[in-house]
Amino acid sequence: MSLRIALDDSLCTGHGRCYALAPALFDSDDAGRSVLLAGENGEIGEEHRAAAEAAVANCPERAITLSDSLSDSLSEA
Ligand code: SF4
Repeated sequence: MSLRIALDDSLCTGHGRCYALAPALFDSDDAGRSVLLAGENGEIGEEHRAAAEAAVANCPERAITLSDSLSDSLSEA
């Protein structure tokens, strides 16, 4: 089962905690706002779970969400 991460650009105000905590998942743009590095559909490997959860927990704007791809598929069925 893989994970899916999403970033809501409209909520991000550029505190930079996500790309400090999870540099494999996030980068910053010229204004310091977050840029998601995940692949298509935001899918990331299980090895990134801890970093992704840390980013979610530390984003002051709650701009990042994380879900299991399997539960997404089930809820869409
Ligand atoms: S921690 Fe949240 S508000 Fe800060 S740059 Fe990352 S997504 Fe944006």
